[in-house]
Amino acid sequence: MKKAEIISVGTELLMGQVANTDAQYISALLPGAGFACYYHTVVGDNRERLSSCLRNSLERSDLVILTGGLGPTEDDLTKKTVADVLGLKLVEDEKTVSSLVDYFSKRGSAFIASNLSQAYFPENSYILENDFGTAPGCLIRHETEKGQKIVVLLPGPPSELNPMFSNKVLPVLKGETDDCLKSKFFAIAGVPESLVEDRLKDIISGRTNPTAATYVKEGIVTVRVSASGTSEEADRLIEETSKIVRERFSKELVSEDKEPVEEVLVRLCEKENITFSCAESCTGGMIAALVTSVPGASNVIKGGIVTYSNEAKINLLGVPKDVIDTFGAVSMETAKAMAENARIKCGTDIAVSATGNAGPGTMENKAAGLVYIGVSYKGKTFAKEFNFKGSRDHVRRRAANMALNMARRMILGTLEE
Ligand code: ATP
Ligand code: MG
Repeated sequence: MKKAEIISVGTELLMGQVANTDAQYISALLPGAGFACYYHTVVGDNRERLSSCLRNSLERSDLVILTGGLGPTEDDLTKKTVADVLGLKLVEDEKTVSSLVDYFSKRGSAFIASNLSQAYFPENSYILENDFGTAPGCLIRHETEKGQKIVVLLPGPPSELNPMFSNKVLPVLKGETDDCLKSKFFAIAGVPESLVEDRLKDIISGRTNPTAATYVKEGIVTVRVSASGTSEEADRLIEETSKIVRERFSKELVSEDKEPVEEVLVRLCEKENITFSCAESCTGGMIAALVTSVPGASNVIKGGIVTYSNEAKINLLGVPKDVIDTFGAVSMETAKAMAENARIKCGTDIAVSATGNAGPGTMENKAAGLVYIGVSYKGKTFAKEFNFKGSRDHVRRRAANMALNMARRMILGTLEE
């Protein structure tokens, strides 16, 4: 595969004020266009340092994508620096001048001279119009002793960069090579990463094409299966390995291709005509927020009740006071009563609940990370105990994901009590 790298320009990135999401966005799409991305570099708004990064990149990569520093301000020096390094002049693009003049007059704002800098590009650039801002990007084909290099300059703001890269740069890159690297992502819940790896040992180790690897986030393990070749070859190789993953995780497989668990649940409920509600304590509304983030959720979710204090659990949800007095708010019994009462009060087919100590620190003898998740469906109500490790935020997210996954498996009939 051809080699690519990204140089992100901006002192704000180096200072930790802005996360480099531009590089993340581009990187996820490069393999599909046949480019393997080998380096991400972040450099401040400084000519010397940027020049030296770019020279390095041109030595080792076929494609160099620079992000940021295309605007009209003093610190926007990407175009000048790239032109210098490549030995090109900056020339004015008339079409960009007129669209800039047009842009400012439509807005009734004054056109100041510095804006004109946005209309200058290294000579012979292919201009990438900016449909969501003023600074266009550009693509330069540059001949070197080591063959032709492609240098692409993109604006920093993600709202401008993302569509410019997807709509204007990717099609050009795809025309450069027949090769591609494709990936498929399997989300698996309820199995620790080490066990997932163990069950897939034979396809993870010692393979080069296709390859399989795992990573974990908020309790969901993702298995990535990647293959390279022509588009058809890659598809065929991925499908062979995918069959194995599907077979070995038939119960725990939540989705393919990055569909989050909330989306899988909503689609399942829609298909089966099932209504959903929830009662939340430690997750504070997160479960309802996740479900309602899915388009079409209104067909499925009827309500969610957040009851943080014992009084709210008793008064709003009707959890019996003696259940809380006897077992505590963080208990199997309270989780069960919360789920059952949410289902009854909201009049839904299924309800889930979460009550626990998100931490940090022990509360009323309950360790941080101890969470009970209840589920009530078709006359059956039960709860499960979990001990999640990690920060408060992490515990809450894991609990919410787990509740959604338990609802999914309850409906599918694969949840064991
Ligand atoms: P503008 O015309 O808006 O000045 P620009 O191409 O000059 O665009 P920068 O000045 O480098 O871009 O950055 C503008 C803003 O875009 C930054 O303040 C930041 O919020 C965002 N941004 C820049 N680079 C990145 C990046 N690599 N990832 C995510 N956001 C970024
Ligand atoms: Mg700028």
